[in-house]
Amino acid sequence: MNKQLYDVAIVGGGPAGLNAALVLGRARKNVVVIDEGRPRNAVTREAHGFITRDGISPSDFRRIAKEEISAYPSVSFVEDTAESITGSNGHFQISTEQGHAITSKKLLFAVGMKDRPLDIPGLAEVYGRSAFVCPYCDGWELRDEPLVIINKGPELVHFAPLISGWTDRFTFCTNGPDELTDTEREAIRQKAPIFESPIRHIDSKDGIVREVILEDGTTIPCRGIFFKPDLVMGSDLPRAVGCHISETGNVVVDTYGKTNVPGVYSAGDMTSRLHQSIVAASNGAVAAAAMNNELNAEAW
Ligand SMILES: Cc1cc2nc3c(=O)[nH]c(=O)nc-3n(C[C@H](O)[C@H](O)[C@H](O)COP(=O)(O)OP(=O)(O)OC[C@H]3O[C@@H](n4cnc5c(N)ncnc54)[C@H](O)[C@@H]3O)c2cc1C
Repeated sequence: MNKQLYDVAIVGGGPAGLNAALVLGRARKNVVVIDEGRPRNAVTREAHGFITRDGISPSDFRRIAKEEISAYPSVSFVEDTAESITGSNGHFQISTEQGHAITSKKLLFAVGMKDRPLDIPGLAEVYGRSAFVCPYCDGWELRDEPLVIINKGPELVHFAPLISGWTDRFTFCTNGPDELTDTEREAIRQKAPIFESPIRHIDSKDGIVREVILEDGTTIPCRGIFFKPDLVMGSDLPRAVGCHISETGNVVVDTYGKTNVPGVYSAGDMTSRLHQSIVAASNGAVAAAAMNNELNAEAW
């Protein structure tokens, strides 16, 4: 049982929650970060595109972040899962899986997104080693290599020209009937082969994909895969406290990370369609500044 009324409880300790904790700690606010430690990028060895941290492992990123935050003694960490939240602006009560009862004036959700189970045989073995979701994160490592793009939706129309910036050797697999118009399908077919047959298996060795084998017997040799992940929010708590959720499954926030629920903010992948650590960290910092302003104005 923790009797302290924190200024801010941050649920989720990825780049968004950690950067928010840093900004709030430096603003002399009492902060608790509740994190169960299951980041979505845990499958990767290296994260890219974060200036000064290009190529860092996700675990080192978190370790360094916590070391830096430890300079600010008003920030504490609880390794646990937030299970339920009651109360309202000024006095939220958070119960955790291990029985902590934490109270705070404001709440920041930074719970990220998580993958639904991967339903393509062999994909789990290569995910994070040679199969990825975002070319900005991992396209450089697969430049000029033969790739298979697994996606059936209309976003293929944008993804096809995007991936051509890294390699011109790619094949599309829709893993069953696609969701494209005839015009869209034809436009894509002009540039690269597109296969509709369901995927039977992804063959790999030591995490490196060798070929994608389709139900109709087609075998596509390749060195990497980009696929569209099936994502859900890292936790249902934002929905449970009444936050508006968009059609794309994100928490709806204003420019400052403020949700429709007074005193509740949100940042990171769960509020954004561009899933990158630096974006998550950046909007964690923005939400932190907004919460700090609100707290100072209320105390004034
Ligand atoms: C395979 C892969 C590769 C990637 N590579 C890159 C890359 O190279 N470069 C890059 O910039 N980005 C990369 N990303 C994206 C990057 O990982 C995310 O953009 C970033 O982690 C989002 O940060 P976040 O703080 O929003 O969420 P996360 O980092 O996912 O952190 C959310 C945290 O909240 C915790 N949590 C959830 N629910 C609860 C709860 N109820 N109670 C307590 N804790 C909870 C989770 O366990 C987790 O620790 C990659 C993603 C994937 C999947």
